[in-house]
Amino acid sequence: MSDYTDFDHFGLDQRIVDAVKEMGYTTPTPIQSKAIPIVMQGKDVMGAAQTGTGKTAGFALPIIQRLLPHANTSMSPARHAVRALVLAPTRELADQVAENVKKYIAKTPLKCATVYGGVDMDPQTQALRAGVEIIVATPGRLLDHLQMKNTSLSQVQMVVLDEADRMLDMGFLPDISRILNLLPKERQSLMFSATFSEEIKRLAANFLRDPQLLEVARRNATAELIRQDVIKLHDSEKTDALLTLLKSGGHDGGPIKQVLVFVNAKIECRRLARQLQKAGVNADAIHGDKTQDERMKALDGFKKGEIEVLVATDVAARGLDIVDLPFVINYDVPFNAEDYVHRIGRTGRAGATGVAIMLMTGADERGVQAIERLIKQQFTPTTLEMERSGRVDRADRPAERGRGDRGGRDRGDRAERPPRGERTERDAGRSYQPAAQPVDDFFSKPYQPNDAAVKAENEAAASNAAATSKAEPRSRVAALLGGSKR
Ligand code: AMP
Repeated sequence: MSDYTDFDHFGLDQRIVDAVKEMGYTTPTPIQSKAIPIVMQGKDVMGAAQTGTGKTAGFALPIIQRLLPHANTSMSPARHAVRALVLAPTRELADQVAENVKKYIAKTPLKCATVYGGVDMDPQTQALRAGVEIIVATPGRLLDHLQMKNTSLSQVQMVVLDEADRMLDMGFLPDISRILNLLPKERQSLMFSATFSEEIKRLAANFLRDPQLLEVARRNATAELIRQDVIKLHDSEKTDALLTLLKSGGHDGGPIKQVLVFVNAKIECRRLARQLQKAGVNADAIHGDKTQDERMKALDGFKKGEIEVLVATDVAARGLDIVDLPFVINYDVPFNAEDYVHRIGRTGRAGATGVAIMLMTGADERGVQAIERLIKQQFTPTTLEMERSGRVDRADRPAERGRGDRGGRDRGDRAERPPRGERTERDAGRSYQPAAQPVDDFFSKPYQPNDAAVKAENEAAASNAAATSKAEPRSRVAALLGGSKR
């Protein structure tokens, strides 16, 4: 597979090339240099790539190229049949993909509509009825529109399942199957997923025909570049541990700023954000119960640096365009080992090490083992010298009362003692050492999700592209899928 160092050499229409250049893209990312030629040839693709790799342009640009023969300026809806469909798990991802697609097609007469739930249907209905060549949608709302005959998928030539693993996790399989059944059998199908469960393999086997397998690490972030730490503690110590880390768990013992903190449940998400706020931390929560507006507001504040700590559940955090944070903290060990991969994928970049810290209690033993099996890596848990939060006994805090295996049974310090196994760990005296300041000063700069940071990073990625693509074995995806057909 050849590598492309600029957008002029793919054979893309000049209007597309001009549009991406205007967006500041100078060099294709690794997934783009791999995917664009293959998708342009009309082949099916199974891509192992996360959000943040530039995969949207990787599939969207060649799809747009293939749609151009149908592009026309007619006002008649009939002349704008839906020919490409992108399904995404969350409204945020659908929005992000559509925003990008709209910019890529800006210089062509092609039209794109975004369709997702939680907002008024009317504007979407109007857009669909006016005729569009491309729909970016979450499955449920698209089915609503189909039922109301606001659009038809009978002429779809290309379909993309974006973040397919998350769509399955969110229970979208029946909806996806219904939608796929409405598409013509003769079509090009692309599927992107960061992880590969048995269910994903089955879906890929049914959905794709002789797929080309593509694999790229998250832009500049391979697992080797992420320092993964596990801190063992008692359940009742978690919030103190988090506060300690925020204050002094950063590079060279400095504070951690702008960190995503993952929890497993919405209720915990709310509670923790509140506790952090009470402790004077600039924190907000992002979870599935929040409205679209609230989520966007929290995310915006986080991107601008107004919010330092964003406490998130997996569902809410998935698909967000948050790139390259220096730190991610798993306040809870995820129930699903594969979520761990997604969570830590939010950090790490070439030349500098991202840090993923996970808090582990005695009850998390099995969950951590599952992660170790998945990532084929063993953790060496450490302990953390904690600053205690004020004079208040943890046993007195209502939120902690009755939680955990020992927490809150009495007022004495017994309530704070970890169970026996954890004591042994503690007595071993391996205490947590913050990461050293990385050589690359990227992480000492404020977090900038877009423009300059992304551009600089993509340039670095592109200059590594040749080496990376040679080094990346296709075999892992092939093995995950039960062997490549090619
Ligand atoms: P994605 O992984 O597709 O969600 O893209 C992540 C971010 O990178 C988005 O903000 C894109 O606009 C940006 N991006 C994608 N490809 C490039 C590129 N070749 N050069 C610069 N930025 C890019």
